[in-house]
Amino acid sequence: MRIAIIGAGLAGLTAAYEIHKLNPQAQVSVFEAADRIGGKLHTVAFNAGPTDMGAEAYLAFRQDATEFFKELGLGEALRSPSGLPSLLYAGGRTHEMPERSLMGIPASSEGLEELLDDATCARIDAEGAAPGIEWDADSDCSLGALVRERYGDQVVDRVVSALQGGVYSASSDDLGIRATVPQLAAAFDALAADGKPVTLSGAVAGLLADREARNKARGYKPAVFAAFEGGYAEAYEALAEQSGAEIHIDAFISSVSKKGEQFLLKGAGDSQPFDRVLFATPAPTTAMLLRDLSPELSETLRSIKLASSVVVGMRFASATGLPDNSGILVALDEPDVHAKAFTFSSKKWPHLDRDGGALVRASFGRFGDDAITRAEEDTLVDYALDDLQRITGFDGRAAGLEEIYVQRWFGGLPVYGPEHLATVRRAKELVAQVPGVGVAGAWVDGVGVPAVIAQARQAAASLMS
Ligand SMILES: Cc1cc2nc3c(=O)[nH]c(=O)nc-3n(C[C@H](O)[C@H](O)[C@H](O)COP(=O)(O)OP(=O)(O)OC[C@H]3O[C@@H](n4cnc5c(N)ncnc54)[C@H](O)[C@@H]3O)c2cc1C
Repeated sequence: MRIAIIGAGLAGLTAAYEIHKLNPQAQVSVFEAADRIGGKLHTVAFNAGPTDMGAEAYLAFRQDATEFFKELGLGEALRSPSGLPSLLYAGGRTHEMPERSLMGIPASSEGLEELLDDATCARIDAEGAAPGIEWDADSDCSLGALVRERYGDQVVDRVVSALQGGVYSASSDDLGIRATVPQLAAAFDALAADGKPVTLSGAVAGLLADREARNKARGYKPAVFAAFEGGYAEAYEALAEQSGAEIHIDAFISSVSKKGEQFLLKGAGDSQPFDRVLFATPAPTTAMLLRDLSPELSETLRSIKLASSVVVGMRFASATGLPDNSGILVALDEPDVHAKAFTFSSKKWPHLDRDGGALVRASFGRFGDDAITRAEEDTLVDYALDDLQRITGFDGRAAGLEEIYVQRWFGGLPVYGPEHLATVRRAKELVAQVPGVGVAGAWVDGVGVPAVIAQARQAAASLMS
């Protein structure tokens, strides 16, 4: 059986590996438009060592991902973070990250008095007594809109969007509750099903109490993230090697058509027919490639939007003056700061604390603001250095800027808006109607590395069934 996979990002490579495991006789060809594999996973060789310029970590509580990496023989390469706290820059000063919150959403104003004004604090504390949210268990709505309505703008602009912007490259206004904080949607569902008033503070308080009870029962607070000693290259190279697939780089595919029961790929690559095709490309590309095979599926996927961002990696000769924190998130409403976040990589990850220098990643860009992704390289580096100094006092120019790498991620992440889950549900129904075709990638069941792996493995299994 001949199988084509389009896209050699995490989803495509995972699917190739899984197909090989399920059927070692299958001949798998992977076609990748870029001149390298890995997609949004990209480890760059800094003089001081391998450094990730895309994803840098994964959620360590996802045991399925850890088991998968161990299966690849990478168990020894996994590293834990230092545990240093992150900060939040809002209202022109740094604050501790709100501890008792769900993705930045508090249950009460306790401990937030310096971050939020008195009126906002009072509003949070009165929310539980306000008329309940009209919650529809069958749909989704904007997280930002709901938090604005219940708690006011400051909570969104200062806290929630800062946290969500770091994960989704989008403001909370553009993100769905069920799509991005499913446990909150489930808590609303449960309150509504029990006939209780659906309130934000009530739902969050319940979820925080559950989390604290779990941590207490466990006896410790587990590390949230894990990473690889040699960066994500360890994972994508292992996947490529162990997949047994023929991987073609610089192999852009422009369309896929059917010839009898088989598929023909147009563009770079093979003119031979394939028995099955897996599309492991971003949603708009998948939409373009599926035009002939399923116009309706193509149309459905076209509605998924992408958010762009830029990462500026900087290596300094000295770490003196860099705060002892893992990083800083910047509030949405900070007028004089361009960056949305800084990761102090050499503080966050002991394995990146090399030679006494400092490694810092500055991140820019949110959905709806593509201009910054296109800014000149020098401008981005200046913004990064100026913002870092303004926020932390650390003078990167004086600290000796030894290396810089600017990585633009045009269309880096799908936007999980309020319509996203319904779109994906419909897309899955339509995929099931096209025999021999599968889809995989960050747009399907979640953007995080564990979610992409789990979905790609499922897609591979159903393609082979
Ligand atoms: C800046 C950034 C930071 C992130 N940080 C984290 C993190 O710390 N932790 C975490 O868990 N997740 C993180 N993520 C998310 C995670 O990295 C991605 O969701 C995941 O890597 C996406 O994998 P994918 O295979 O679905 O897509 P991609 O990586 O986009 O792979 C798709 C591949 O298809 C190729 N392609 C596209 N069109 C064609 C075509 N026509 N023909 C052939 N090939 C084509 C592309 O070149 C690409 O290589 C981050 C994402 C970004 C952008």
